[in-house]
Amino acid sequence: MGVKYSNKINKIRTFALSLVFIGFGIMYVGLLFKDKMWLMSIFMILGLLSVTLSTVVYFWIGMLSTKTIKVVCPNCGKPTKLLGRVDACMHCNEPLTLDKDLEGKEFDERYNSKRYQKNTENQK
Ligand SMILES: [Zn+2]
Repeated sequence: MGVKYSNKINKIRTFALSLVFIGFGIMYVGLLFKDKMWLMSIFMILGLLSVTLSTVVYFWIGMLSTKTIKVVCPNCGKPTKLLGRVDACMHCNEPLTLDKDLEGKEFDERYNSKRYQKNTENQK
């Protein structure tokens, strides 16, 4: 396939972590404009917003984590968390599925889409 899939929780966590660094980066740039109070304030506010947003994203991860299903990865044997119908292992990025129907099929992010989920709900 050639495409690397990564675990969703890991992806979001990386995003949240980078937001923290971006936030501190912006605040650091703000310190360079000490003589211009208004400019420094803008940078500080932007930096704080970025850090606050990352806190929100971390909170969101916490919420999502309650929806994940813990499985042991058949590829590397480590416990991992799956989000959605298809997700990748947190450790080795092995594509995994919870749905027996999808087993053996090519890994496809579309299986997580709202439309697909709606279709299966209608079948119930
Ligand atoms: Zn694995």
